[in-house]
Amino acid sequence: MDSQQIIENYLKSDGRCYGHCDGMAEMVFLEKGRRTVSCMACPGGYVSRVVMYAPEVDPADLQEFLAASAGAIGPVGEEEIRVATRHPWDLGIEGQVKEDFAIRQAYWTQNYRKTKADNPSRKALFLCRDCNELFVSPLNEGVHSHAGQANGGRR
Ligand SMILES: [Zn+2]
Ligand SMILES: [Zn+2]
Repeated sequence: MDSQQIIENYLKSDGRCYGHCDGMAEMVFLEKGRRTVSCMACPGGYVSRVVMYAPEVDPADLQEFLAASAGAIGPVGEEEIRVATRHPWDLGIEGQVKEDFAIRQAYWTQNYRKTKADNPSRKALFLCRDCNELFVSPLNEGVHSHAGQANGGRR
């Protein structure tokens, strides 16, 4: 098993969308390769969490990713990002990987964000389920604008 398989098989989690709707959020991969990035998104596209996995990852890596792909939500402070290390014994895969194997994950939970009261049109991070891109929209809208793209199609 390589890291990507381990992430997909053992770190995949689903949960209820929080702070947006009663739907279930599922894990969607945004990047695979040298590092892997996933997010938890509900059917309406609201993103509850963004997670970056790599052999070595620190909060700055995820901050950079969020600034590049979700800059419109404003700067994400280092204190909003948690880093955890997952070990084989913790994932139940002892004996299937090298003893010193570990996956580091940095995650940002959108709910931690201090929002101005419960303004329904505050900016929130969404995932477009059509083009798999993150975008920022008022919480009560969540519609990705594809204006300006030929045929309204995908990239
Ligand atoms: Zn939702
Ligand atoms: Zn889109």
